[in-house]
Amino acid sequence: MTKEELWQAVLAQIQFNISTANFTTWLKNTKILTKKQKKIIVSVPNNFSKEWLENKYNKIILKILQNLDKEIKEIKYDVVKTVQKTNKTAKISCPKISDNVQDNLQLEFEEFRVNKTTNLNPRYTFDNFVVGAFNELPHAAGSAISKNPGLTYNPLFIYGGVGLGKTHLIQSIGNKIAQDFPEKKIRYIPSEKFISGVINSIKERNIENFKKYYKKIDVLIIDDIQFLAGKEKTQEEFFHIFNVLYEKNKQIILSSDRPPAAIPSIEERLRSRFEGGMIADIGIPDTETRLVILKVKTQEKGINLSQNILEYIAENIQKNIRELEGAINKIAVYQKVHNCDINIEKTKTLLKNIILTPKKPVGFNKIIKTVAEFYDLKEKDLFIPTRKKEIVKPRQIAMYLLRDMLNYSFPSIGRKFKGKDHTTTIYACSKISKEIENNEILNEEVNSIKQKLYYQS
Ligand code: ADP
Ligand code: MG
Repeated sequence: MTKEELWQAVLAQIQFNISTANFTTWLKNTKILTKKQKKIIVSVPNNFSKEWLENKYNKIILKILQNLDKEIKEIKYDVVKTVQKTNKTAKISCPKISDNVQDNLQLEFEEFRVNKTTNLNPRYTFDNFVVGAFNELPHAAGSAISKNPGLTYNPLFIYGGVGLGKTHLIQSIGNKIAQDFPEKKIRYIPSEKFISGVINSIKERNIENFKKYYKKIDVLIIDDIQFLAGKEKTQEEFFHIFNVLYEKNKQIILSSDRPPAAIPSIEERLRSRFEGGMIADIGIPDTETRLVILKVKTQEKGINLSQNILEYIAENIQKNIRELEGAINKIAVYQKVHNCDINIEKTKTLLKNIILTPKKPVGFNKIIKTVAEFYDLKEKDLFIPTRKKEIVKPRQIAMYLLRDMLNYSFPSIGRKFKGKDHTTTIYACSKISKEIENNEILNEEVNSIKQKLYYQS
């Protein structure tokens, strides 16, 4: 594999582990400069990218690289200013990339051409959004809004689990309005950006300008609004902007990973605003719909996979459309790099990290039993109302697993644990899911519990 192909394979995989915005910000214009057996030097366009890649993404990049080439032990990031195209020597010294890879590279970058004014990604459209029972209502609401912005449902509040199409849907609404109403000012803003906007403008004492900017918008789309939880100042500014836009019949579209009632630490007046329009949730697609999604995605990417491979993926990846895409991408990279077609056995090996097939369906009792056993407790200990560390942590992990593996609602988890209210269960689940990312040991523990759940009958 040439170093270009290797890096191409890394980029193709990592985009399924990080958000599109992060991908564009930190990984665009990067490449492998040199590859000497154990060490890889990656060129990055500036110091920001260097720092971020070193501190935040090095581990995952190294893991992906090592999956492709076991020899690699270390990555270094060097800042290299972009070489002008007219520089002939630079051009000659570049090894030729095969046409396939070149096409693919172009395709990748095509995908990430985000509109600088609206902040919308043109790849998210209604045309490539598959509709099934799981997302019929939010899709219908979105499509109605795009015909009559501001005058049908306001606000539109879409919620659902990770990787199920919230961002895709709300951006499709924006893109459609942009196409049909070119005079309208549309802005797509991830919550993190809104929050940092408030913080910065307070620091720089120009909050009035910040507000002015938002008040001129005709269609305001804010993604992952649950991040406003606990951010009082941001909530206050948002409440104000919301009211001004709402009064003027401007369209507001919000997404969240949970319904308004389940967002902790959010002001009541804001919650009631969220609930004042249309709330629609995206569920989980059934196997048939997952198969359709896979077909659409393989066609889009020009990949040819046999029906039994698609069926295998559809049956085994159930809860996340992003993972469905990740799976076909992984196979596509393999086919491209090895220049061969793939069979079902190879598919299974390639996807074994994504897919863990349970022997018996996992249920509530099994989760409680396995967690208790793992921490050397009796099952009933997990339900004792105590703050002892030895019990609190396993209990939080059990709650997290009920949510993560069985999709239990927060109130129903609360009921199972003798009337704990839903804010306690939300706190427990989000605490564990956050800690897993930073705490290697906890991550290992949760993974071993999952393994036990999946593989022990
Ligand atoms: P979320 O914002 O809910 O986490 P995304 O909107 O980012 O999820 O979706 C994850 C990936 O799955 C995206 O690449 C998106 O294009 C794709 N996707 C989600 N829902 C659909 C759908 N209904 N049809 C086609 N692709 C979808
Ligand atoms: Mg999203």
